[in-house]
Amino acid sequence: MGQGLRKVLVVGGGTAGWLAANHLAKRLQSRLPQGVRVCLVEAPDIPTIGVGEGTVPAIRNSLAYLGISETELIRQCDATFKQSIQFIDWEQDPARHGSNSYHHLFDYPEILGGDPTPFWLADPQGSYADAVAIQGRLIEAGLGPKLATQAEYQGVCQYAYHLDAAKFGALLARHGTGKLGVEYIRAKVLDIGYHPDGSIRCLHTDSAGALEADLFVDASGFGALLLGQGLKVPLKDQRQFLLCDQALAVQLPYQDPAQPIPCATLATAKEAGWIWDIGLTGRRGLGYVYSSAHSSHEQAEAVLRQYMGPGGDDLVLRRIPMQVGYRERFWEKNCVAIGLSQGFVEPLEATGLLMFDITARMLADQFPASQAQIPAAARRFNQRVGYAWERVIDFVKLHYCLSKRDDSAFWLDNRSAATIPDSLADNLAYWRHQLPSHYDFTDISAVFGLENYLYVLYGMHYPTDLAGRPDLLADPAGARHTQARLSARLQQAGSQLLPHRQLLDRIRQHGLQKI
Ligand SMILES: Cc1cc2nc3c(=O)[nH]c(=O)nc-3n(C[C@H](O)[C@H](O)[C@H](O)COP(=O)(O)OP(=O)(O)OC[C@H]3O[C@@H](n4cnc5c(N)ncnc54)[C@H](O)[C@@H]3O)c2cc1C
Repeated sequence: MGQGLRKVLVVGGGTAGWLAANHLAKRLQSRLPQGVRVCLVEAPDIPTIGVGEGTVPAIRNSLAYLGISETELIRQCDATFKQSIQFIDWEQDPARHGSNSYHHLFDYPEILGGDPTPFWLADPQGSYADAVAIQGRLIEAGLGPKLATQAEYQGVCQYAYHLDAAKFGALLARHGTGKLGVEYIRAKVLDIGYHPDGSIRCLHTDSAGALEADLFVDASGFGALLLGQGLKVPLKDQRQFLLCDQALAVQLPYQDPAQPIPCATLATAKEAGWIWDIGLTGRRGLGYVYSSAHSSHEQAEAVLRQYMGPGGDDLVLRRIPMQVGYRERFWEKNCVAIGLSQGFVEPLEATGLLMFDITARMLADQFPASQAQIPAAARRFNQRVGYAWERVIDFVKLHYCLSKRDDSAFWLDNRSAATIPDSLADNLAYWRHQLPSHYDFTDISAVFGLENYLYVLYGMHYPTDLAGRPDLLADPAGARHTQARLSARLQQAGSQLLPHRQLLDRIRQHGLQKI
């Protein structure tokens, strides 16, 4: 089989670097003498990006797997629960049609008794989410997703978190070094040394000498120090599909510290992009994601300040240019990119941490058994991760191309055929006369599945016409049965669940039962 890999060096101490180091150290048993050594080097004078506060439910699985306590996450990262993304004013221009919104829920549609979707399409009373799930109504009632007596990571509803990005990075760092055996080096990488075949031999640093390893993980952020600058793997720009390339971010204190905290990310569409609004325990995180081709920075600042109201007048906004796209390859020779160095698109569906978590775990689970296996492992990784990024772009773009807004060039451009990937256009054409189904989502690398598409398509009232499929309306009793089950569940959950802030206070004070 050839020689095994004995040491991995991760460059970068942002959330991506620490997620990668945790996954690798856990899987490769770094704390044991026979385990693979995992080291992380971080430059003390290069800050992390410091944003990335929204997650998706898959993070719970990873945190539990890594052995991180949910109670500690909530206590140490100012974390709150997230049960949905609420898309406000995405479908119609609010100035002409009034404010409109829908939920992309984390609970899957509960359609086991019989699928209400065809009936809702035939007669769309109320929201689609409410026709197939109870979670939207629980969120609107201000309730959290779990009982204070439920064990860590278990819930009445599916959920993820909003968290302080810097504190989350610090928690991962403590866990990786304290529990999993990750070695930490504070030093700046200045230069790269190469083997004759062009693979990386070592990294020259300012204060820790030359650091050698068998495999290098580039988690150095947008700069892509190893994969981009060193190995010259180009970025595939995706701005032809996703037009937003700038963000303005700010942290807004609560006026009243006891104010209720929304259990969803609020994503409000504006004339040249959208605003995220995320409630943590002690503050809100806000940002305007916009297209610089459709708005000046001054106009963008005015939009965000108007949203914040007078409470934010004295706050300084931070502008973050976004590199929209992904690398042509993610694993080149003995270097793998995890994090912003791998790729990034606007954070509409919190795909950053999701992609970096998935790909870090994929790398750890599929770790090459020997040096000789590296080229085959790299080929597979590149194929799967490339496919995943294409699907992420399809799903993020879906939100834009279903909009009926025509109040600015931004929204019109977002609907022009040239800005819609062929794969998405093909699915949309098919779904005009056919319900989306599991057959459309057979690849496990697809990241977003049927449930996600259903909520966005029908949250935006996509006009699927089922005239050619009368068989789908053959079981009204089944759909009624589903409705009755949902009503019963709603009543029960509504009487058991605590208001979101009260639930968080309880957990911070008393903790949750460990799994
Ligand atoms: C506007 C915006 C909003 C976002 N919102 C979300 C969200 O809601 N949800 C989500 O999941 N994701 C979000 N993201 C993505 C999120 O920020 C990233 O997933 C995450 O922070 C990972 O960043 P990173 O670790 O790759 O890079 P960074 O945080 O930039 O870290 C880079 C690290 O590399 C180190 N480094 C760089 N150069 C050197 C060197 N020469 N030597 C040694 N070390 C070096 C730095 O010191 C630093 O530790 C958002 C991103 C942006 C831009």
